[in-house]
Amino acid sequence: MHPEIPKLLQLQERDQRIRALQKDLKDVPRHEMAAKTKLAGDTAAVDAATLKVKEIEVKIKGVELDIQTRQNTIKRLGDQQFETRKNDEFQALGVEIKRYEADVRALEDKEIEHMEELEAARAVLKEAQGLLAATQGRVNEELKALAERADGLKRRLAEVEAERAGLAAPIDKTALDLYTRIFAKKGDAGVSPLENGICGGCHMKVVSGTIQAARGGDILAQCDSCGRILYLVE
Ligand SMILES: [Zn+2]
Repeated sequence: MHPEIPKLLQLQERDQRIRALQKDLKDVPRHEMAAKTKLAGDTAAVDAATLKVKEIEVKIKGVELDIQTRQNTIKRLGDQQFETRKNDEFQALGVEIKRYEADVRALEDKEIEHMEELEAARAVLKEAQGLLAATQGRVNEELKALAERADGLKRRLAEVEAERAGLAAPIDKTALDLYTRIFAKKGDAGVSPLENGICGGCHMKVVSGTIQAARGGDILAQCDSCGRILYLVE
């Protein structure tokens, strides 16, 4: 076996852990987004319920204004009626007043209807707000846990990277460069076992010369198919 192989295997173990930690760290923002989207439905329900309440409040204000206008008219007609001395005018004003009074009663009925709608809409809003608050609580917990997870991952990553630097330092530069290039390209391993003539990295058969080279240990034997550095397992 080539003398750098055991050192490269130790290094590779750290590189694989670094890669896994980096992948987990990269997944954190995606999990955060997923957590936050859970709020979207509940927020939309609160917005819709709030809008409904406001619409009804505006309708009630409109009806109240209509009632006020008619009551002012009734008052004015009453004053006119009080002042007039003509009997027919008195009668005509009386009819007018009755018509406006009927209007007011109809408007008051409508106002009661709107008040009932408002009460129902406020109940819907309160329920939607309760659901949103509950979801927000769960999402906050999730986000907190994710932030703690990210911190833990960063700490472990820094530790493993420091270990890696320590392990890489004594390795022969040519061997280290070759390994580093292959690991970066393959993503999973730069050094693989050679067992029963099969490369453990790509699972292809290697030629006998490669097996001999791996056994000899003078040079770093590489897989004929994938290029990974091979060490013989017999
Ligand atoms: Zn291979």
